[in-house]
Amino acid sequence: MSGRHPTVHRDPALPRRVTVYEVGARDGLQAESALVPSTAKIDFISRLRAAGLPWVEATSFVSSRRIPQLADAAEVLAGLGTDLEAHPVLVPNLRGLERARAAGARTIAVFVSATESFARRNLNAGRDDSLETARRVVEEASGEGMRVRGYVSMCFGDPWEGEVAVDEVASVSRSLLDSGCAEISLGDTIGVGTAGHVAELVAAHGRAGIGPELLALHFHDTYGQALANVAAGLRSGVACFDASAGGIGGCPFAGSATGNLATEDLLWMLSGLGIETGVDLDEVVAAGAMMTDLLGRPRSRVATALLG
Ligand code: MG
Repeated sequence: MSGRHPTVHRDPALPRRVTVYEVGARDGLQAESALVPSTAKIDFISRLRAAGLPWVEATSFVSSRRIPQLADAAEVLAGLGTDLEAHPVLVPNLRGLERARAAGARTIAVFVSATESFARRNLNAGRDDSLETARRVVEEASGEGMRVRGYVSMCFGDPWEGEVAVDEVASVSRSLLDSGCAEISLGDTIGVGTAGHVAELVAAHGRAGIGPELLALHFHDTYGQALANVAAGLRSGVACFDASAGGIGGCPFAGSATGNLATEDLLWMLSGLGIETGVDLDEVVAAGAMMTDLLGRPRSRVATALLG
């Protein structure tokens, strides 16, 4: 490993510490056509956690007919040992919650769409019905003391409806927080967001009484805007960002969505800004490269630069 790192120039206007929330093993692998063996997933997740990532989302208890890539959810959790607090799993409904609980899950995430069209295509239900399903899962899980994260997808626009009103998104977030979510991750599922839009979306949440400490931002690099959007999010006071080691994945139900923001690329930028993450960049680079090599997919920018 090269040991190269960026020069550091702190910007006092930005948060001193940021949480990097790792989604590669769930959001990444669900979108890859290859079926990765459970042992390779467990190794990938364990290495990312050992690198210092506080949250490494492990899998999803969705129907294996819909997402065969994650059909081994219970085996993956079983292979992760006792550290399950740090490994959230996605749960689509009460049946999924039941399966997740039986597999030992301690932390979960639910998923709703900011738009009607994406809800119908991705969740097979209207937006309000799927929000209601998610709220029931959140109430039950948080009532048992589980930490629940709420994902809102298509926050910046969707392929069928175009731009999405920022206040609409904030009202969906409000509803999830009211039912017991600890944090809301705002997803740019098709990567169409740009920096000014990020600032407006965070401001709209502020108007709805949702401060940046309750938000995470989930960017896709489809149009090369992910890190610029992170910078805008930091400037708005957001201190949690989702990323995928190796940049794997996108969205399986939105054809145009490619490229989660790579964790390595995010860490490089945060490190250059003097922002603490507690994460070892070189270890994430090695884990990400292991998975992209296994998938036969290009490495992230930072992995390519550091590994040659
Ligand atoms: Mg994603």
